[in-house]
Amino acid sequence: MATIEITQLRKEFGDGDEQIVAVEDVDLTIEDGEFMVFVGPSGCGKTTTLRCIAGLEDITDGTIEFDDDDVTDQRARERDVAMVFQNYALYPHMSVRKNIGFPLRLSTKQSTDEINEEVKDVAEMLGIEELLGDKPKELSGGQQQRVALGRAIIRDPEVFLMDEPLSNLDAKLRSKMRTELQELQKDLGVTTAYVTHDQTEAMAMGDRIAILNNGRLQQVGTANEVYREPTNEFVAGFIGSPSINLFTAEVDGATLTGPGGFRYELDDTSPVADRDEVRVGIRPEDMQLVEDGSVPSVVTVVENMGNENFLYSEMGEINLTTRVDSKMNPREGADVEFHFDEEDLYLFDLRTEQAIK
Ligand code: ATP
Repeated sequence: MATIEITQLRKEFGDGDEQIVAVEDVDLTIEDGEFMVFVGPSGCGKTTTLRCIAGLEDITDGTIEFDDDDVTDQRARERDVAMVFQNYALYPHMSVRKNIGFPLRLSTKQSTDEINEEVKDVAEMLGIEELLGDKPKELSGGQQQRVALGRAIIRDPEVFLMDEPLSNLDAKLRSKMRTELQELQKDLGVTTAYVTHDQTEAMAMGDRIAILNNGRLQQVGTANEVYREPTNEFVAGFIGSPSINLFTAEVDGATLTGPGGFRYELDDTSPVADRDEVRVGIRPEDMQLVEDGSVPSVVTVVENMGNENFLYSEMGEINLTTRVDSKMNPREGADVEFHFDEEDLYLFDLRTEQAIK
């Protein structure tokens, strides 16, 4: 097992006019045995960061240490890491038994019997022992993914690196495999870095989540921390489904006024002192339908989700989303009002986009 310490990581591709800074100023420690999920929009640098940890990219600047051992200049095969990719990368002509045993055949002097014994143990752990004689093309996506995991587990590495390993599976299987993978990782206790673009997956799986945007680390924290205490407007907007409602409000003493008749009286004015304007964020589930509230709007669509309703409405030119009880079923076009508690209000600086409350 290992602690991974990333210091001032920078990775550029190309040069001159063609130059792209894929990752910059990334400082991060992944604790021994921790499940760290990297998440962010397409192109934010997740895969590049993972490939740098793996030793598959020469980094432009910075250092990577495994347990105080500087591995920055080590090649991938010198680092004790096992990778699992989205496309599984199984050998089509080899049986499941051979695919899983492959890393041992390459790296150890164990006999075939000994290797097959280990393969059997790993296959049992993953519930695929009856598939050992099959070829990859005879397997379902979920089974292929288990084989790919088996091939990583059998190496008994210090570190697992996984790049969107579940994205080729259908929604139901994906959710099942999430839980299995988490349990497996906890049982094995192997330090894991996992990449996904899906914030729901990140929230469900990560001990902590590292959120990237434009190559920069925005925040690192537990699901609860990044959801309830986002450091900036990007994190607030990226984490949470449906997304947080965001709009600009004018400040006059303790009064916030905004589009479409929004009006809210603050008890605590300290975050807005000396400001004329502020960005306001309210989560869809933190707004309650009331007779007389500070958020007036006109209902555009009601989406019935069974246990709750998503209510889409317009407050002036701002589109709002709220989550309400499924018994709350206002008709489209109805005038409605919402209330929210001040403790559920998020405020961001208009220019820096950093959280001020
Ligand atoms: P996605 O979710 O779309 O895979 P990502 O967050 O994993 O995105 P990266 O693949 O790390 O993003 O890419 C970060 C940036 O670096 C992007 O602008 C990408 O185009 C660029 N990039 C990545 N690999 C290379 C490469 N080998 N050569 C040139 N540019 C690259």
